[in-house]
Amino acid sequence: MDLLRVKWLRRLLKSAWAPLAVQVALLVAFALLVWGGLGVDADDEVAGLARYTNLANLLVWCCWFPLVIVGAVVLGRVWCAVCPMELATTVASRIGLRRPVPGFLKSGWAITILYGAAAIVGVYTLGVHRVPHRMAVYLVALLALALTVGLVFERRAFCSHVCPVGHLLGLYAHCSVLQWRAADASICNACEGKDCVAKSRRLGIRRRSCTSGLYPPAIQDNRDCLLCTQCLKVCPSDNLRLTVGAPWSDLRRPLGLTGAQLAFLAIVSGFVIFEVLSEWEPSLRALEWLPYLVADAFGLTGPAADLAAAGVMFVLLPAALFLAVAGGVRLAARTPVFDGAKAFALLLLPTVTGAQVVKAILKTTGHLPYWKVALADPAGVESARAIQAGTLAFDPSLPGWLTAAITVVVAMILVVALIVTVRLAQTSPWTARLPRAARPALVAAAAAYWAIFAVTIVLWRL
Ligand code: SF4
Ligand code: SF4
Repeated sequence: MDLLRVKWLRRLLKSAWAPLAVQVALLVAFALLVWGGLGVDADDEVAGLARYTNLANLLVWCCWFPLVIVGAVVLGRVWCAVCPMELATTVASRIGLRRPVPGFLKSGWAITILYGAAAIVGVYTLGVHRVPHRMAVYLVALLALALTVGLVFERRAFCSHVCPVGHLLGLYAHCSVLQWRAADASICNACEGKDCVAKSRRLGIRRRSCTSGLYPPAIQDNRDCLLCTQCLKVCPSDNLRLTVGAPWSDLRRPLGLTGAQLAFLAIVSGFVIFEVLSEWEPSLRALEWLPYLVADAFGLTGPAADLAAAGVMFVLLPAALFLAVAGGVRLAARTPVFDGAKAFALLLLPTVTGAQVVKAILKTTGHLPYWKVALADPAGVESARAIQAGTLAFDPSLPGWLTAAITVVVAMILVVALIVTVRLAQTSPWTARLPRAARPALVAAAAAYWAIFAVTIVLWRL
């Protein structure tokens, strides 16, 4: 089913103001969120509450981020299409130096390192999600980075080679039901101007060729396309389609994965475990036990211990897991270590995606009671103090029926993730290429990873 056959949608997406108008509106919203978080700092105990009573912080971490994740899983990189950073970096690159993107950025390692640093330093050690002021500084730093990269490099180098959020959404977009492709490759072959990739059309703001460097008839999967619709606006033959297909169809094709992308996925697999297990105090304590034991062994305390523990949790443990599985596969079937690690990474993708959606659901629904307080006092510090002092009556618990409904939905998502994993192990081209003897070890390791989430949810919710 081609959604571009729906006349009003085609007209809307062809309009020069889509998605520009939404990006401008979101840039204003972005400025308001920064303003709402700046200066809202508090001592540790109040900050624990203020992260939910501050309206800007609540909007960013319990509304925007979960929606962006779920949006990517269902619809692909729709957020990237309307992201205000894309607008900022595009405008900057129009007036900037337009230098070619260097090999290091193109290799993907910059994104992997930035993502690892954001998880270890930004989230775990500094708690950018816990303190509204830090959230605001983090957003401003992101905007500054988008502008700087835009001023130096050509095209949208920030979106393609620097932004870790975009890369993460690209991974989750493999599950999406939407696919942006050329409608008829023979029309593209005969097309003389090739406006969709023409260098002369790169500098437009409202209509331009693809500044992600994609040639529509060559697009094989959802990872890199931002769904920005620019190629549709300039194509003289209207030769694009937006089809609704089966979810996970990307993963039924041979899928390339570089070393940097493999490392990125390994860090994501570790970070997602932390994301879900941190929702329940006993599972968080169990998860942090070994990393802090390591930090203690080196005599580290305070933020240094947090940094080391995060490094163990998000980098060393996932790396050890990937190496152990790839080594086991090599012993069982004499497969190159990289092939085994790559197949394992792709087999983890359904569980990683499912767990991230679970986290999004828990984050969004778990803090519903705070909206009333945050809307009444957007800064949120006074409310947090009053709640803590007991002078403001506040019950953070959810109705029993909602808690039960969330548990059922979460369980269903995890079951679907397991089914998809098993199906992929049986049918995907990248596991089919491995010897049969390698598959049981891979499936067992992927199932063990899945079991971490399943056991936690069962123990916690039931
Ligand atoms: S997408 Fe349009 S502009 Fe690009 S090659 Fe095909 S027909 Fe030409
Ligand atoms: S292929 Fe088209 S929709 Fe996708 S990023 Fe390029 S211009 Fe945007």
